[in-house]
Amino acid sequence: MAESNNFIHNIIEKDNETGKYGGKVYTRFPPEPNGYLHIGHAKSICLNFSTAKKYGGKCNLRYDDTNPVKEDIEYINSIEADVKWLGWEWDERLWASDYFDKMYEGAIELIKKGKAYVCDLSAEEIKEYRGTLKEPGRESPYRNRSVEENLRLFEEMKDGKYADGEKVLRAKIDMTSSNINMRDPVIYRIAHATHHNTGDKWCIYPMYDYAHPIEDAIEGITHSICTLEFEDHRPLYDWVLREIGWWETPPQQIEFARLNLTNTVMSKRYLKALVDDGAVESWDDPRMPTIAGLRRRGYTPESIRDFCERIGVSKANSMVDVALLEYCVREDLKTRVESRNVVENPLKVIITNYPEDKTEMMEIENNKEVPEMGSRMVPFSRELWVDGADFQEVPEKKYFRLFPGNEVRFKGAYFITCNEVVKNEDGSIKELLCTYDPETRSGSGFEGRKVKGTIHWVDAKTAIPVTIRNYGYLMLPDEEGNNQLNPKSVEVIQGYAEPELAKAKAGDRFQFFRHGYYIADAKLYSKENPVFNRIVDLKSSWKK
Ligand code: ATP
Ligand code: MG
Repeated sequence: MAESNNFIHNIIEKDNETGKYGGKVYTRFPPEPNGYLHIGHAKSICLNFSTAKKYGGKCNLRYDDTNPVKEDIEYINSIEADVKWLGWEWDERLWASDYFDKMYEGAIELIKKGKAYVCDLSAEEIKEYRGTLKEPGRESPYRNRSVEENLRLFEEMKDGKYADGEKVLRAKIDMTSSNINMRDPVIYRIAHATHHNTGDKWCIYPMYDYAHPIEDAIEGITHSICTLEFEDHRPLYDWVLREIGWWETPPQQIEFARLNLTNTVMSKRYLKALVDDGAVESWDDPRMPTIAGLRRRGYTPESIRDFCERIGVSKANSMVDVALLEYCVREDLKTRVESRNVVENPLKVIITNYPEDKTEMMEIENNKEVPEMGSRMVPFSRELWVDGADFQEVPEKKYFRLFPGNEVRFKGAYFITCNEVVKNEDGSIKELLCTYDPETRSGSGFEGRKVKGTIHWVDAKTAIPVTIRNYGYLMLPDEEGNNQLNPKSVEVIQGYAEPELAKAKAGDRFQFFRHGYYIADAKLYSKENPVFNRIVDLKSSWKK
């Protein structure tokens, strides 16, 4: 990321120059533990952690658990696994709910200063009194309660004297403010609910806009990075810290544009619904934009970090083409993984002039871009499998692969001519009868005829059957351009692989020659059930 491109780093550098925070740079990543993290969170994670690292600072993982919901240990575990997998280490792991006492004290402070009051209006009335963008709000009839009365009522709220919704604590700011967030926002509400951390100690809970700045300030966060929706909340963030007044140099909130990605959806709520409705198998379904889903799909942490750097940070919301993410993983895997011959929708080829009991071992390079990755020996014999897509009985224009009468190169082996198509009774193709030219053996220096088509193959005697899951996009735009679930987001097919692939372990990645990058599925793969997920195909549609 070019330095001048990152406006957040520019702000930090200015602060370091003026000594605003004494050169300190503390950031935090504050997830609400109510779902799995997605690629949008990865952007926030990479930004917060890399910023702290760049300036020799610290970055906390802080659970934003001010909502009294049951702790879901599955979510907590997944969040920590994902942050670590992305390659980051937090300085401290903290819980916002540990600061409830301090937040309560802060509210008392505000009441004493005449800056907060208990309001009996219902949620609906509060909304009605709030006004609109065009019209100012109206003051609550409870706005001018005395400090003593407010202190007493707030304590009674805490002591459980009132039902949910009966009273709230509101900041006393300005009902005529052009910023609706400043029109006496609710800062505490009543919720008779058990909190995973504090149990039944509290039946009043702070609202996000009140709690978040206090959490940041307590932890000594200097630059509180959040997404653009909170820009209009910043005056309230600053107001809370200024009015409570406990901190000499309070943290500053800085907003950046959230990541939006084509062909998918980026909201925990929606993703949870997909899981709950069975539209996908799980949170880590390889089609999901969750970090767990991308990991299982075969994405590397390096490729996701690279993606987050390439998209950069800006102040303007935009849509990022998922092709860029695909480009990043292709770039990463290109020089890291070995190639294997795997055929999809296999078609049998018999080399009629090749000896019945002969097998030759052909040497094939593992990665043509990286000679140091060496080569492997691949068996070749009379019966082979080729890709169903590499044969056309009646070839279309510019089709250079197998068709009756045509000669092609079998990569790493010989020139092969297709002579005859043998069919089953139902008219389907049984096998192709072909001949090979012994003069054309790969590596023999044969300089004779040229052929236009090169295809790959798998020796039938030693082939291992594999299950291939070719993934498409989770969502596709309809005619109006709105994303809809893609009903064909996965195609499961059977294929044959060269015997070398039997050595794969769950989580191993390969290039399936001419097909794409694949990973042995972390959950399902075994020797008996070799399942491979397509990470990404080979063609790039990304235009720089
Ligand atoms: P969602 O809307 O998907 O539920 P959220 O913002 O409610 O996400 P949080 O757990 O509150 O989820 O988010 C933790 C942090 O991640 C916040 O600082 C939030 O701004 C950031 N974040 C969430 N979504 C994105 C995104 N698409 N791009 C960048 N940052 C994001
Ligand atoms: Mg949230």
